[in-house]
Amino acid sequence: MQTLRYVLEQAQRNGVAIGHFNIADSVQLNAVFAAARELNLPVVIGVSEGEREFIGVRQIAALVRSLREEFDFPVFLNADHTHSLPKAVAAANAGFDAIVFDLSALPVEENVRQTKEAVGALKSIKPDILVEGEIGDIGTGSEIHDVAPDLSKGLTTPAEAKDYVESTGVDILAPAVGNMHGMLKSMVGGQTKKHLDIPRIAEIKSAARVPLTLHGGSGTDDEHFRRAIAAGINIVHINTELRVAWRRGLEQGLAKQPQEVVPYKVLPPAADAVKHVVRSRLRLFNEARGQRANARSPQTLSQASER
Ligand SMILES: [Zn+2]
Repeated sequence: MQTLRYVLEQAQRNGVAIGHFNIADSVQLNAVFAAARELNLPVVIGVSEGEREFIGVRQIAALVRSLREEFDFPVFLNADHTHSLPKAVAAANAGFDAIVFDLSALPVEENVRQTKEAVGALKSIKPDILVEGEIGDIGTGSEIHDVAPDLSKGLTTPAEAKDYVESTGVDILAPAVGNMHGMLKSMVGGQTKKHLDIPRIAEIKSAARVPLTLHGGSGTDDEHFRRAIAAGINIVHINTELRVAWRRGLEQGLAKQPQEVVPYKVLPPAADAVKHVVRSRLRLFNEARGQRANARSPQTLSQASER
């Protein structure tokens, strides 16, 4: 069975990014997994502290493990935005593949001190666990925001990134590069898109020399995604887009069958809506892989033009 570290190295080599999708129940989990399996692409399931509390830390670990084993498929589990060591330890004990240890709200010296401690503690529980650290400000809440927060002062610099990675020993870095958690109303409707600071990503990558995660990917311009991945982003987080799709799908399912009380008859439109978003995002994040394959085998060119 492939490890997350191996899949990350492959992604770096192929110039693609691994999709990371947040879920809070098994309907969403199965929808994300179905899309990944259909496309035969590795995938990371993310659960924030709130999402973990809802589904259960050991329960989601058991569900993801069972999918990985039954289908012999590279599906991984990440404890997204974990703000305390006890919660990180609980996830490591449950068998999570990765943990985002997020003390980015603290002064950077304190963030460094506590993150370094956490890396040691978590690796002593599970030596192959990947720990991701975060510096800079990318806002909070994968929700619909009325007003755009001013994150311009919280952008990560290449020097900070290098220092932080070297002093903490984190495996993966989540920088602030113009990304933002959540979406504005205008982004949900598609009138506006998030734009990223691509040169900054490339500079951080060459300074920090570790895999980079882009948080708050929902609502990002497609071309900026492509350029960010080419500049060194290896994992992309999508949450709000899935939440929006889930809600719309759920409303449809209820509206279409106003008398229905059977959950597995009401919920499929919600699952389909989530699956649709995951499929299209995974295709985009893995485009470079397709282009390389097409360059090698001319008979697949017609498929490429259909994209
Ligand atoms: Zn995030």
